[in-house]
Amino acid sequence: MAKKVTKIGVLTSGGDAPGMNAAVRAVVRTGLYHGLEVYGIMRGYQGLIEDDIVQMDSRSVANIIQRGGTILKTARCKEFYEPEGREKAYQILKKRGIDGLVIIGGDGSFRGAVKFSQEFDIPCIGIAGTIDKDIYGTDFTIGFDTAVNTAVEAIDKIRDTMDAHDRIFIIEVMGRDAGYIALHSGIATGAENILIPERKTDINDVIRSLQEKERRKKLVNLIVVAEGDDFGGADEVERTISEKLPQAEIRVCILGHIQRGGSPSCLDRLIASRMGFHAVESLVEGRYNVFVGILNNKMHYIPLEAAVKNKAKISDEWMRIVKILAS
Ligand code: ADP
Repeated sequence: MAKKVTKIGVLTSGGDAPGMNAAVRAVVRTGLYHGLEVYGIMRGYQGLIEDDIVQMDSRSVANIIQRGGTILKTARCKEFYEPEGREKAYQILKKRGIDGLVIIGGDGSFRGAVKFSQEFDIPCIGIAGTIDKDIYGTDFTIGFDTAVNTAVEAIDKIRDTMDAHDRIFIIEVMGRDAGYIALHSGIATGAENILIPERKTDINDVIRSLQEKERRKKLVNLIVVAEGDDFGGADEVERTISEKLPQAEIRVCILGHIQRGGSPSCLDRLIASRMGFHAVESLVEGRYNVFVGILNNKMHYIPLEAAVKNKAKISDEWMRIVKILAS
């Protein structure tokens, strides 16, 4: 028999992502609709261990759907990696009678949820909130659309000045382990080269392509690099290209944290609302220890264990498109 939930806790954990607030709002209001008590757990697993928990009502989530960041705050929590930390978290939930947990975060947060749900009898449900889009089993993660659009807007601006001066620009975007932001923003801004952690970078190939373009008098070249690219980020790429092409005018720009902030896009608000709603419905129906994903526009409930064992893959089709369109 599935456990019936009556009081649920919701937390945001790990890296923040625009749209997390829209998900919190959906969880709170759907929970209240189903007659549940809903508790906001501050600062992710850290706040759970410290009993930093507030009861939420409909008004607590008023006027937040359009705001970036997360009203529940987020944190990285060392203690939760240890069994003792997770035991503390369980005791707090037991003391408060919270019998269901909604975890909005990335694959690290899901990893924590897997351990917790294996050790304790608290139904958990995940919502994929990460700008990196690197979660297996879903076409969307909350925050990616906003982050990639922020990157595109910034790169478009840089392209204007790059074009005026016939320069090579190397732009570093976020993605320590995942190249989606680089890939999507690079294709959308017409980048000549896109370097991502999922593919081994052949710097000589990049240099050959720059030389070939120079021969054709194509002097404006945009290289988008994910921060986690195996060659070592934009500065390293610049240093190596400058050595081989000393006459080239090269500039580096690291976009950094602007990619995390800002008001969520319409798409991020929609998927966050949809995932938040279905996460609670799923808990109420007795389906848990899964995360809510969207595949081919349908809701999917993927076991958290499967999510952390697998990685979202970048298809070779995208890489071919980059090569052919960048000529
Ligand atoms: P994200 O969820 O954005 O990937 P992190 O990887 O920092 O972010 O994970 C968020 C938090 O989840 C960590 O600070 C930690 O508290 C918890 N966590 C991550 N991995 C594990 C793990 N293997 N075991 C237990 N808890 C974990």
